[in-house]
Amino acid sequence: MSQLTDEISRRRTFAIISHPDAGKTTLTEKLLLFGGAIHIAGAVKSNKIKKTATSDWMEIEKQRGISVATSVMGFEYDGYKINILDTPGHQDFAEDTYRTLTAVDSVIIVVDVAKGVEQQTRKLMEVCRMRNTPVIIFVNKLDREGRDPFDILDELEQELHISVRPLSWPINIGAKFKGVYNIHEHSLDLFTPDKQKVTERVEIESIDDPRIDEAVGETDAAKLREDLELIEGVYPAFETEEYLAGKVAPVFFGSALNTFGVKELLDCFVKIAPSPRPVEAVERKISPEEETFSGFVFKIHANMDPNHRSCIAFVKICSGKFERNAPYRHVRSGKTLKFAAPTAFMAQKKSIVDEAFPGDIVGIPDTGNFKIGDTLTTSEELHFKGLPSFSPEMFKYIENTDPMKSKQLDKGIQQLMDEGVAQLFTNQFNGRKIIGTVGQLQFEVIQYRLLHEYGAQCRWEPISLYKACWITSDDQEALEAFKRRKHQFMATDREGRDVFLADSSYVLQMAQSDFPKIRFYFSSEF
Ligand code: GDP
Repeated sequence: MSQLTDEISRRRTFAIISHPDAGKTTLTEKLLLFGGAIHIAGAVKSNKIKKTATSDWMEIEKQRGISVATSVMGFEYDGYKINILDTPGHQDFAEDTYRTLTAVDSVIIVVDVAKGVEQQTRKLMEVCRMRNTPVIIFVNKLDREGRDPFDILDELEQELHISVRPLSWPINIGAKFKGVYNIHEHSLDLFTPDKQKVTERVEIESIDDPRIDEAVGETDAAKLREDLELIEGVYPAFETEEYLAGKVAPVFFGSALNTFGVKELLDCFVKIAPSPRPVEAVERKISPEEETFSGFVFKIHANMDPNHRSCIAFVKICSGKFERNAPYRHVRSGKTLKFAAPTAFMAQKKSIVDEAFPGDIVGIPDTGNFKIGDTLTTSEELHFKGLPSFSPEMFKYIENTDPMKSKQLDKGIQQLMDEGVAQLFTNQFNGRKIIGTVGQLQFEVIQYRLLHEYGAQCRWEPISLYKACWITSDDQEALEAFKRRKHQFMATDREGRDVFLADSSYVLQMAQSDFPKIRFYFSSEF
């Protein structure tokens, strides 16, 4: 095997997603403990934004600042190179999370056994489904009282629209929780509430092994056998291929806080989770094994220090080997760029790297060259797909309040949009600029940053909009007719594409039924 294929096959790049409080931070930390990347519990700072701070976004950004360090956590485990991409927990930053999901090859979803599937999880799963991202589900907090595991499985299937297959099974829950039976390895892991110690494991021959009765008592052993029989009857055998195709999600049960069930999860994960997969560009599919380098920017993290308008562009490597100081073409500008100080994140330390491989993320210090979705390459011009902008949910007109600074304002808006903070639409009718976001917080972020980084002042004005959706048609005349009819509600996005601004769901439905030749899109990828 060449060095490249060797490095690719041992890489696992994934994200952990959950609704806030389900245990994402705790699980991440325990995974890092196993990888030897950290040595004490409590070392991983939660990138979670405290609920009380929602009105104070500076505080939020401070907390988010922490997330630069934890944006990508790389570590070695059992010969594998694992990259965990962190995702912000706060729902106002959902867009950041969507984009991060474009840079991973698989996902672990954490669900709280008492709360089941929550809203944020549902939304993120939609994005995974769009991309057929393989998912593993970890049902957490078994040490607490919670729901019946069969109920949870049903809910996972219904709410997440994916088939599930338990690969471990809990023996009781809450105060009576005794451990999990590891279905795919035929072993029994006994629970001792302990935040550091690794699980005690009982090796067994089969489910009839009397050692199970010895370990958990006859009643619980009988119940376990009954449950397992039901599982084998109801759920088809686990097939890795189906998991890789995004059709079936294996499910594990455990308690992240007690480091219970985490190692089993990790051991199974490294075995079944995909190594970097081919990536779709507009032009063609790019295989990670290609010798020529290619990668794309999926995230830009601004520096909060207004004196240095610098930021870090996060590049996901798609193919070939990345080398420090090598010349790479920046496709959008046509410029050739060299990077003297690319960084990688190993064991929570950020350090300069000389080389990196597909699946890895490198951070590139930048002063405004990069835009979300930009491609770097040594091969032909490529444009990576899969970085959709989602139809925003909140809209405001942005108005300049300092006529002397309109240049600064325009520049600031352009750059913030390049970073992917929000989306800009220009009304074709009156030329007014509309900013669309997924959360209220972004409006505060934008206003503050425009003032502090660009010296520009703005004011928000309400606009009553339900959705902005991209429209196309094969029938040019029909398209023009639609635009004429709706001329007050037509806008263009930054690429000059047509966007229809619907002020209510009724209007949108009517437009869809009255204009069957027009196609309406709710994400910019079409
Ligand atoms: P995140 O918002 O998803 O990152 O959640 P955290 O990892 O910050 O966890 C939220 C809370 O749940 C914290 O107080 C954790 O200590 C707690 N927690 C996490 N895992 C477990 C678990 O297995 N059992 C119990 N009882 N609490 C847990």
